[in-house]
Amino acid sequence: MKKVLAERGHTIVEEINKADVVIINTCTVRYETEQKMIKRIKYFIAKHRDKKLVVAGCMAKAQPYLVASIAPSASLVSPQNAPHIWMAVEAPGRVLLLSDIRDNTILGYWHKGAVAEIPIQEGCLGNCSFCIVRRARRRLISYPIERIVSLVKDALRKGVVEIRLAGQDTASYGIDIYGKPALPKLLSTLKEIKGTFMIRIGMMNPDTLLPIIDELIDAINNDDRIYRFLHIPLQSGSNSVLKVMRRKYTVEDYIYIVKLLRRKIPEISIATDIIVGHPGERDEDFAATLRILEMLEPDRIHVAGYTLRPNTAAAAMEQVPTNIKKKRLAQIMKLVEEIGLRKHRTYLGKTVEVFTVERGRGITARTRNYIPVVINEHIVNVGKWIHVRINDATFFDLRGTIL
Ligand code: SF4
Repeated sequence: MKKVLAERGHTIVEEINKADVVIINTCTVRYETEQKMIKRIKYFIAKHRDKKLVVAGCMAKAQPYLVASIAPSASLVSPQNAPHIWMAVEAPGRVLLLSDIRDNTILGYWHKGAVAEIPIQEGCLGNCSFCIVRRARRRLISYPIERIVSLVKDALRKGVVEIRLAGQDTASYGIDIYGKPALPKLLSTLKEIKGTFMIRIGMMNPDTLLPIIDELIDAINNDDRIYRFLHIPLQSGSNSVLKVMRRKYTVEDYIYIVKLLRRKIPEISIATDIIVGHPGERDEDFAATLRILEMLEPDRIHVAGYTLRPNTAAAAMEQVPTNIKKKRLAQIMKLVEEIGLRKHRTYLGKTVEVFTVERGRGITARTRNYIPVVINEHIVNVGKWIHVRINDATFFDLRGTIL
């Protein structure tokens, strides 16, 4: 949106007092996020009545009536209409741009410092019972390989050293435009670009990963500039809950994937997501999730307590009581920290090669398998491979000194 507006001659300002129009780009993936967005919109209405308000993003698309009830004069712009944001900004009155058709020839990207987040696709082929994102991004929309390549080149020219290929399900990339999954092809095309930078592949679902797993392994093994890291949400370790969630894989599929990846890419680290307290989760299902995490020891585990989202199938199901959910969350968090710490402690005292990506008070670097390493010195620029001795570890990151 910033790119489109800047190209039309608008000036992007960060301070609200200097703005004529304010755009609130919303997320509504969880109940808490929704509440934050509502608070932000209400604050704006109370303090800046004189300014024009545009509410963009997933909340505008998935919950337009909710937004309209708190901000009746705000224009609404769906995620797919981001390239047309200028219409809402320039129109004298209220504008509703809520269709879910996207012009995939227009692609912007976000970059902060030396890290760029480049969307390669949006939406998915799933229909998960808990998911409101599906209401906001109904179809799979991929961007053509050439567009992504030119954006990557543009980002590198601006000093970016870490490219994050983002999407709701990157393994389904290309199915809509090429008739088959094209993530491995995209990666092999990016291999042709010269330069010192690293690529992080974004989240992918087990069911869409399975058909391309061999090709993807080859693509990763063929390019040193791809982090040995994949983010594959498991969500639950119980087949019965996966069924209620309408996930399209089994626990056995997931185990197969992790074992295969670890055999073929020995240094790979695997991140996963777990939802605790989804409708239908009994004590034995939760216990199965703990067991599978103990067994597979994913390198990073994101845990979220289930929150009810409107207009989703799970909203109509019998809910797990809050006190049970809280108890399970406390239990799983303990395990997550134990696993993280256990894995990270194996690095203590070792020398590792890391890639520098962020400079602040110190440096944040990444191992080749994407573990963050915090270094309390700032003598090195971003985009360099350096040797570091690891002298401390938390469940979340490593701490080191430059050799
Ligand atoms: S795969 Fe499921 S959780 Fe992911 S975006 Fe699609 S519907 Fe939502």
